[in-house]
This record gives sequence, structure tokens and C-alpha cells, in this order.
Amino acid sequence: MLNIVLFGPPGAGKGTQSAKLIEKYHLVHLSTGDIFRANIKGGTELGLLAKSFIDQGKLVPDEVTIGMLASEVNKQADPKGFIFDGFPRTSAQAKALDDLLQSKGTSISLMLALEVEEEELRKRLLIRGKDSGRADDQNPDIIQNRIDVYNAETMPVKDYYLGQNKYKGIPGIGEIETIFNALCAEIDHA
Ligand code: AMP
Repeated sequence: MLNIVLFGPPGAGKGTQSAKLIEKYHLVHLSTGDIFRANIKGGTELGLLAKSFIDQGKLVPDEVTIGMLASEVNKQADPKGFIFDGFPRTSAQAKALDDLLQSKGTSISLMLALEVEEEELRKRLLIRGKDSGRADDQNPDIIQNRIDVYNAETMPVKDYYLGQNKYKGIPGIGEIETIFNALCAEIDHA
């Protein structure tokens, strides 16, 4: 199986590149942010809980996020592999993902990290907020919170995969197609 973690700060382009990668490699795309938003829209209990954190730009607690992700992985009958988009975002989530995949006889193949500097992220998120209507992309204070949470809680996940020799950084600025080709080159050489 080909199991990829697509990593990067909010606004780095993970969603855009995931859509292209699943089309090319026929992987199952699991975006925890998308799943939370679908639950919010559907008015589920999980959605209600997640919304209270998402609206403040905070992370949804690990036990909730890990439980949800595990149940989504377990739903897949015979996957060719997964793209994890927006997960793991904490070291505890990274460890839980390793344990889950190990119990299925597989593992993470590589972490592809889209690297974009903060000023560019702030600009992109505000534009996305206007286009998509996402509330957490429209307020500069919430955007800053998300970037701060990323630096404090999510950056250690990079070290986790560096330690396993699975981390590959890709510049996330430039043409979508150029970035996509760089990601594909890493996957094809993995
Ligand atoms: P995203 O669409 O990936 O930017 O996620 C939107 C929001 O959903 C984040 O700001 C978090 O509040 C929440 N979220 C998404 N993925 C996770 C995760 N792996 N752990 C905790 N919270 C998450």
C-alpha cells in the first residue's frame, strides 16, 4: 500500500494537491477538516463538538479526532492506499496512526510537506475565506490562531517523520502543476 501524509500549514495547498494526487494514484483521501465540516453541515453530535474548536482556530481534541480517523480507515474494504490530509496534527495523532496502520500490516510510506511562508498563508486564507465562505478563513485573528497552533502543536510532527526518515519538504509556492510534479517525483522515487 502507498500511504502518504500530506503535511503543511493551513493554506499551504494540501486540499488542491490531494485532489490531483488521488486522481493519479487512486488513493483514498481522508481529510479530517473535510470530515468535520461534513459533520457540522449534517448537524451530528461530532459536528457540534468539532465546531466549538474549529470556530476558535483550535485543534479538536486528540481522542475525538483519532477515533473518527480510525473509523474512516476501518470503513475501507480493500484500499490501494491513503492520503492523510490535515492529519496527524499532533505527535499523539502520529503515534496513533502508526499503531493503526501497523495493526493492518501496513505503514506510512512518506510525509510530503508543502512549505509556504506565513505572510503568504495569511493572504491565501483570506482569499479562500471570501471564495468558500469558510468562517475560520475570514477572521484574521482566527487565522493567526491556526498558524500559531500549527507552529506550537503540529510542527513536532515533522520531527516525528524526520526521525523515521520519511519527511520530504516541497516548496509550496508557484504553479499548481509544478508543485504537483514535484510531489509525484517524490512518490515515484519512494
Ligand atoms: P483544515 O480543513 O485541515 O484546515 O481543518 C480545519 C479545522 O478542523 C482545524 O483548524 C481544526 O480545528 C480541525 N481539524 C482538522 N484536522 C484536525 C486534526 N487532525 N486534529 C485536530 N483538529 C483538526
